[in-house]
Amino acid sequence: MSAVYINLAYIAAALLFVFGLKMLGSPATARRGNLISSTGMLIAVVVTLASEQILSYEWIAAGVAIGALIGASASRLVKMTSMPEMVALFNGSGGVASLLVGWSALYGGEVSTFTGVVVMLSVLIGGVTASGSVIAWGKLSEILPSRALVLAGQRFCNGMILAAVIVAGVLFTMAPQPDSWVFFALLGLALLLGVMAVVPIGGADMPVVISLLNSYSGLAACAAGFAINNNILIVAGSLVGAAGIILTNIMCKAMNRSLANVLFSGFGAAKTATAVEGEVKPINVEDAYLILEAASSVTFVPGYGMAVAQAQHVVCELGDLLEHNGTDVSYAIHPVAGRMPGHMNVLLAEASVSYDQLVEMDDINPRMDNIDVAVVIGANDVVNPAARTDTASPIYGMPIIDVDRARTVFVLKRSMASGFSGVDNPLFFGENTRMLFGDAKESLSGIIGEFKA
Ligand code: NDP
Repeated sequence: MSAVYINLAYIAAALLFVFGLKMLGSPATARRGNLISSTGMLIAVVVTLASEQILSYEWIAAGVAIGALIGASASRLVKMTSMPEMVALFNGSGGVASLLVGWSALYGGEVSTFTGVVVMLSVLIGGVTASGSVIAWGKLSEILPSRALVLAGQRFCNGMILAAVIVAGVLFTMAPQPDSWVFFALLGLALLLGVMAVVPIGGADMPVVISLLNSYSGLAACAAGFAINNNILIVAGSLVGAAGIILTNIMCKAMNRSLANVLFSGFGAAKTATAVEGEVKPINVEDAYLILEAASSVTFVPGYGMAVAQAQHVVCELGDLLEHNGTDVSYAIHPVAGRMPGHMNVLLAEASVSYDQLVEMDDINPRMDNIDVAVVIGANDVVNPAARTDTASPIYGMPIIDVDRARTVFVLKRSMASGFSGVDNPLFFGENTRMLFGDAKESLSGIIGEFKA
């Protein structure tokens, strides 16, 4: 295929990436957006394979077969609650791929200084992404301790590694050789830097780290694209890099924290929230039903526990029953509820909750005083009023959904345990709060049973 046709096809693929990404911004168009971007990627891959630079297809076919097998099995076997871990591993694979592509560019004969620089960047950023993602995966899956491990002299040590990386990078760029000691020193230091950068960050901040590493994997791919002179890899890498950093920023804002605070503060290790005490008022399924049946407005506030309980379908079913009963039903979504951005949107979409009923935090809060019942389903940190009132709390300043201002609050969870941040929740002791203890799916099924009886 001639270079002109290849580049025309690449432009078409790039346009599909951009339009698809834009459509991911709304739950109503996200599925189509995903499909459109995937079509762009298919075009990019097919056109690249048809180019005359490909000398043999055996290794490529083996790679495609292995990759397709891993991808298809992961999409079926990995549980929805383990999605962040899977994304972490996929980011790491992206980093390794870019590192290898950059490395391979050194074997094509004479290496220019420019190629040396971009290969150095792809190895460095790819290496940091790869090892950092493995640590993030280990912390999220609790194979490694998930708390922030801040060792004495950690910052000095990281500073020394960074200085060594810069020296190795400069030496390598001056004489780019594939099998030189400088190359392997650069590779080793990049991997070490990834480990040392992620170890001091607590498990609660891993989703932000994963989003940032996703951005890095894009930058590494972009550098690899320059190294092998492939335009679509440069475009795709830049898009991933930019999208990842925008998402990281959105997540930091939703927690009212700066990126520097997430990366360097050892969150959760230092501050201790004020102890919470009071009387808990439990409620049973029958009484919860009677209150819901009489309510004229109900808002469901899902959190990570809904994902654990896989309660999205029963939430939707109860919402439908309430609507038929003449109740105004909405679903209030906090931007960082669950363990990854859009986690709650994905689950509710899977259960076919209408997009019109989804309300963002900033839109539901001004209406909260007029809501009869706020039903909190396995959410904890994102509805914790301590974030508004307790200056000693590690989550102080994080915007929350103000369910405590609703006339009545039902909290569906199994125990008095704290949420992801490990902070106690004064909501559970509120005058207007009733605790419906138990697995969220079972509690909701019980209420549905009462409605149908
Ligand atoms: P939390 O982790 O704060 O709380 C989840 C609650 O669900 C727990 O208190 C648990 O209580 C309950 N739960 C677990 N299993 C069940 C079950 N089967 N049935 C009923 N309840 C259950 O979740 P939130 O969604 O409120 O908050 C998300 C946290 O993750 C925040 O701290 C946020 O900052 C953090 N985070 C999220 C990101 C994202 O992108 N979404 C990114 C970065 C951080 P119990 O064990 O008693 O049942």
